Amino acid sequence: MNGPDCPACGGVYTVKNGHAHTGRQRYLCRVCGHQFTLHPPQHRISAETEALVDRLLSERISHRGICRVTGVSRSWFRLHLMKLGKTVQHGFEQDEAQAKKV
Ligand SMILES: [Zn+2]
Repeated sequence: MNGPDCPACGGVYTVKNGHAHTGRQRYLCRVCGHQFTLHPPQHRISAETEALVDRLLSERISHRGICRVTGVSRSWFRLHLMKLGKTVQHGFEQDEAQAKKV
């Protein structure tokens, strides 16, 4: 499998080049010598989305529904609730409730 395209020159001749101290895979471009790491898919939630989540929360929409509508991950949502100091009353799904018992 080839490495990712070089972000500097667009070259496709990239090789793995050890790891950055963050643990991310580093790549080296054989074409221009540029070293880079790939950014993992970021699940950054914008302030707008966060505000929307808060608004939906106040509308008593189900947590699952909020996640579906806003596109936030459930793990983010749970963290967000914790940040708000709210307890998750209903739990998302049965399987999560069961996971807590383990
Ligand atoms: Zn390059």
